[in-house]
Amino acid sequence: MLKGADNVVMEQEDSASRHGEMRSWDINDIKLPQENPIEFLYPYKAFSQNPQQDIRQTDWFQEWPNSYVKHIYSSEDKNAQRHHSSWAMRNTNNHNSRILKKSCLGVVVCGNDCSTLDGRKIYLRPAICDKARQKQQRKCCPNCNGPLQLLSCRGHGGYPVTNFWRHEGRFIFFQSKGAHDHPRPETKLEAEARRSIQKAQTAFSPSSPRLKRTQETEVTVTDQ
Ligand SMILES: [Zn+2]
Ligand SMILES: [Zn+2]
Repeated sequence: MLKGADNVVMEQEDSASRHGEMRSWDINDIKLPQENPIEFLYPYKAFSQNPQQDIRQTDWFQEWPNSYVKHIYSSEDKNAQRHHSSWAMRNTNNHNSRILKKSCLGVVVCGNDCSTLDGRKIYLRPAICDKARQKQQRKCCPNCNGPLQLLSCRGHGGYPVTNFWRHEGRFIFFQSKGAHDHPRPETKLEAEARRSIQKAQTAFSPSSPRLKRTQETEVTVTDQ
């Protein structure tokens, strides 16, 4: 099996490298690691012919996978089934229909680089759908009403970071290529929390309720 630059980086950075099987595969391999049923039954005996190719343990789901990482999830993992990521990833054409490819859309920032009262920056989630994203960029910053700006991801040699997903038997294989070169967008939960806070402020503030309501509507982002 070929060992590419990805593997070298991963050996240094990825905590998953403690599992021998994590380093030895690539998402494009014809044959991916499998579980060794004999070893599951008798873990104290080394029956395996090729221990590098056996899965002993699946990973906890990673919400923010970054850099050149690989994970093996259980096919029962709901987040893995949905190919979820907290980064804003959209489906991308892939030559291999068995492997789902997604690429990062970056983050939407405030053109004025403003900060909220509690010192946080505006890092909105780019809408996944092209049209919705174009519309989103014409909207205003929910904090200062300034222009919004899409910060593209160039973390994979100048191109967006890509994520790959592949279902094989009882496992879902994940591989990430590139390191995100932009801040994390707020998660869907954080966006919902922010909107409900703004709603509460609108309800309790007698001053300029109309303006606040406008801001609240403007930050509503459709994700799909
Ligand atoms: Zn702003
Ligand atoms: Zn990115």
